Amino acid sequence: MHELAITQDIINVVCEHAQGTKIRRIVLEIGKLSAVLPDAVRFCFELCAEGTAAEGAELEIIEPSGLARCRICDNHVTLDRPIGRCSCGSTDLEWISGEELKIKELEVA
Ligand SMILES: [Zn+2]
Repeated sequence: MHELAITQDIINVVCEHAQGTKIRRIVLEIGKLSAVLPDAVRFCFELCAEGTAAEGAELEIIEPSGLARCRICDNHVTLDRPIGRCSCGSTDLEWISGEELKIKELEVA
């Protein structure tokens, strides 16, 4: 389960940033094409945050849809999952966004 390692990384980063101050709220952005499961991150978060400055922090996860460009007709296609189809019928899509995983906001006490 790679979400555990990802969540651990996120907590390391936010705790370093907070410099010992208690963290109130964290907003994460996990693109729908990132192959990271937000529910798994939520689950790991509580485990990993225990005993750190992030313990008890509110975790909010934003899941932006992916955007791709069709290589056949050049249209833009919105993707909610890694597999999609353009309105022209093509599945030859080039991903533009939706793979991001980042800390969008951090609120400390
Ligand atoms: Zn197309």
